[in-house]
Amino acid sequence: MATADTSAASPETHAAYDSKIEGNIIFTRVDSAVNWMRKNSLWPMPMGLACCAIELMATGASRYDISRFGAEVMRFSPRQSDVMIVSGTVTYKMALAVKRIWDQMPEPKWCIAMGACASSGGMYRSYAVLQGIDNLIPVDVYISGCPPRPEALLEGLMRLQQKIEGESLFKGKQEPETAEA
Ligand code: SF4
Repeated sequence: MATADTSAASPETHAAYDSKIEGNIIFTRVDSAVNWMRKNSLWPMPMGLACCAIELMATGASRYDISRFGAEVMRFSPRQSDVMIVSGTVTYKMALAVKRIWDQMPEPKWCIAMGACASSGGMYRSYAVLQGIDNLIPVDVYISGCPPRPEALLEGLMRLQQKIEGESLFKGKQEPETAEA
C-alpha cells in the first residue's frame, strides 16, 4: 500500500500517514482497503482446456512461484474461486460447461482469457470452436500468444490486480486489459 507524508489521501495515493500524530495512524478509503485485500488473495479457477493449460500448470510450479502474488490457491471448486483462467480451445461441446462453472462462482469474480484460442478462437475458424470465451462470459484481461509463456500469465495477473485496485465497491467494472505475450 502506498504511503505519503500528508494528512489526507489524494486521488493518486490509496493511504496517507500523518507523522504529527503519535501511534502510526494510516488513513485510507474503504474501497482501497477492500480492493487491496481482494487483489492480493485471488483464488484461481483453472479452466484448462488445451495446450495453454500446460503453461498454466508451469506457472503454478516452483520455478515461477505464482504464490508471490497471493494467487496460488487453485481449488478446482467454483464456489471457492474468484478468478477463472480460461486456458485453451473452447469447443462448443465444452462451452456451456465453462459457463455453468462460471455461474457457480460467487461475486465478485474476474476472468482471464489466456492465449489466442480462449481470446478469439485462435487458428480454429471451425464450426466446432467458440470464437472467444467473451461470447459467453465477461473477460477482464486478455493474454496474447500461442501459447503465452508463464511470464505472460503473471503479467496478466498483475494487470488484473491493477484493475481491481481501481474498482469501486459501488460502481461497475473497468474496461478489459490486454497483456502482451
Ligand atoms: S492458443 Fe495455441 S497453445 Fe493455446 S490452446 Fe490454442 S493452440 Fe494451444
